[in-house]
Amino acid sequence: MVLVSACLCGINCKYNGKNNLDTEVMRTLDKEKIIPICPEQLGGLTTPRQPHEIKNGTGKDVLKGMARLISINGDNSTDKFIRGAFETYNICKNFNVSFAVLKSKSPSCGCGKIYDGTFSNTLIDGNGVTAQLLIDNNIKIINECDYRLRFNTDKL
Ligand code: SF4
Repeated sequence: MVLVSACLCGINCKYNGKNNLDTEVMRTLDKEKIIPICPEQLGGLTTPRQPHEIKNGTGKDVLKGMARLISINGDNSTDKFIRGAFETYNICKNFNVSFAVLKSKSPSCGCGKIYDGTFSNTLIDGNGVTAQLLIDNNIKIINECDYRLRFNTDKL
């Protein structure tokens, strides 16, 4: 089973009620059994919702209680992001997920780079909360950009 960020599958779960359909990624996964998930919806956030970024840290810091998820309006949604991450991890365990293709830059799904918490389109090194929790539990993850690049050369 392959876990995929639901917005990459064309599901309208983004903060603005739209999606990030990636037809190339979906085409390469067409022989796989996939589970589309949106950690932010699983955590109880509404769609649409205010965009959020991690303030003063990364997903790793959030999971240690050292950083928070703050909306562009200043709301603290840290608990919901953490709940969504653990719900996603539970799905991985229950369905024997072998790897996950996650949307880049998201404060939940992002792996490798995320926004810096200033809502200025500035990226920093780090992972979103869900991505970090999956990494910490030995689930292989890759963002959709790297997945497209590696699909023809590496076996996941
Ligand atoms: S939380 Fe993940 S699946 Fe949901 S909209 Fe954001 S990037 Fe997509």
